[in-house]
Amino acid sequence: MEFITETIKTPVKGKYDVIIVGAGPSGCGAARACGEKGLKTLILDRFNCLGGAWTIGFMNPLFDHANKNGFIKELKDRLKEKNKWGGFANMSFHYEYMKAILERTMQELGVDMLFNTTFSKTITEGNRVTGVVVENIEGRSAYLADVVMDCTGDGAVAADAGCEFVVGEDGDYTECQAMTLMFLVGNIPEKWKNGGMIFENLNHAYEKEGLSIPFTRPYLIPVPDTRFGVVQFTHMYNYNPLSAKDITEANIEGRKQMIEAFEALKKHDADLGCLELIASSATLGVRESRRIIGDYTVTTEDILEGTQFPDGVCDATFNVDVHTKANKGQRYYNVKPYQIPMRALLPKGWDGIVVAGRCISGSRDAMASYRVTGNCCQMAENAGYIIAYAKEKNIPIREVKVLEVLEKGKHIL
Ligand SMILES: Cc1cc2nc3c(=O)[nH]c(=O)nc-3n(C[C@H](O)[C@H](O)[C@H](O)COP(=O)(O)OP(=O)(O)OC[C@H]3O[C@@H](n4cnc5c(N)ncnc54)[C@H](O)[C@@H]3O)c2cc1C
Repeated sequence: MEFITETIKTPVKGKYDVIIVGAGPSGCGAARACGEKGLKTLILDRFNCLGGAWTIGFMNPLFDHANKNGFIKELKDRLKEKNKWGGFANMSFHYEYMKAILERTMQELGVDMLFNTTFSKTITEGNRVTGVVVENIEGRSAYLADVVMDCTGDGAVAADAGCEFVVGEDGDYTECQAMTLMFLVGNIPEKWKNGGMIFENLNHAYEKEGLSIPFTRPYLIPVPDTRFGVVQFTHMYNYNPLSAKDITEANIEGRKQMIEAFEALKKHDADLGCLELIASSATLGVRESRRIIGDYTVTTEDILEGTQFPDGVCDATFNVDVHTKANKGQRYYNVKPYQIPMRALLPKGWDGIVVAGRCISGSRDAMASYRVTGNCCQMAENAGYIIAYAKEKNIPIREVKVLEVLEKGKHIL
C-alpha cells in the first residue's frame, strides 16, 4: 500500500477528564455516570443525535432492561411520563422522544456534546491513549483527555491506537453475524397494532414473486402510541464490517431487499399490503465487528455457567442470539444470568482507554448475548463510575475495587 505523510497542524480544541467516542447506548450510559460524578466530559458522534442504535438505527425493543437500575430505569421512567414506552414486547420506545430525553439528560448533567463529528485518529503516548482527532464542520481538531472511552461499537479508537482485537471466527469475517438495514413503515393496520413475526406474510409474497427470502424470522415492531413501526427483515451476509466498500454494498443490498419486500407485500398480502414505506435507517445495523482483547475475555463457559465476578459491571440475562447465514435465521440458546467484569472493558496492555458496548472482550457467542442495549448501557455506566472513583482517589483504573464502589453507590443490583 502507498502512504503519504501528513504535515497538517491540528489545533487542540479542548481538554477533558473523559472523552466518550460514540453516543450509542454504551456512550450515553458512560456519559450519564461521568456527568453525574462531575467529571469534565465530552461525548461525540458522527450522526446528529444521541442514541446510536436506539435512535438513528431504528432499533427496538430494548432488551435486557428489566433487571437494570440506574440510567436504564431512569430512561424508562422518562419515556413512560410521555407515554412513549411499552408497546411491542412491552419494552419499546419512540425514537424521537429517546433522542430528546438523552439530550436533556446530558444538558442537565453539563456534559459537552459534539454531533456530526467523526473520530478519525487516536492520540497516544507510548501505550497510553491521550486524546482523539476528529473531523467536523470546523475541519480537523484534537481533543485531549485523561481517559478516552471507546463506545463506537466497532472498537475504532482502540484499534487505531494499536490495541489487539479479533473479528469473526478466527479472523474469518464472513462468519460475522448478518447485517440489517432497518426500515420504518406507516399505516400499520389495527390487526397488527401489537406487531409480531411477519414471516408467513413475507414468505407467501416472496414465493408468489419467485424470490428467495433472505431471513426467516422477520418482525414488525410498532413504536408505542403511534401508527408506525420498524421492520427487522433485511439480512446481508458475507460482508466485511471493517471494509468501507463492503459497508457501502451492504447498504445498497439492504435497500434493494427493503423495496422487494415492500413491493411483494403490497402486491400479494391483503393484511400488510396497506403498509407505507417511510424511510430506511441512516446507518447500517452491524451486529458484529471487532472484539478488543481485554485483561479478561468473557467466555462461552462464563455465560453458560453464570459466572459472577468481583469486578462485575453488568448483570446480563439475554440469551445467545446469532443471526447466521447457515440457516438464514437465528442460532439461539439460553444462558445462565452472568456478569461482565470490568477487566473485559480494559484493552490489554493499554492505559487511558476503556472500551464499552458490543466491542468489549468476549467470545463470539458471549457477544451474541451481551450485545443487546440494556447490557451495553449498564456496563458503560458502571465503567463511568469506576473511572470517576479512580480520578477522585488518584489511582489507576485497574486498582479500583469495583464491587465496593458499585455496591456503595447501589449502581448494581
Ligand atoms: C439490526 C440490529 C438489530 C438489533 N436489535 C436489537 C434489539 O431489538 N434490542 C436490543 O437491545 N439490541 C439490539 N441490537 C443490538 C444493539 O443494537 C447493539 O449491539 C448495541 O446498540 C451496541 O451498542 P453500542 O453502544 O456498543 O454501539 P452503537 O449503538 O452502534 O453505537 C455506537 C455509536 O458510535 C458512533 N460511532 C461509530 N464510529 C464513530 C466514529 N468514527 N466517529 C464518531 N462516532 C462514531 C455511531 O454513530 C453510534 O452512534 C440490534 C443490533 C442490530 C445491528
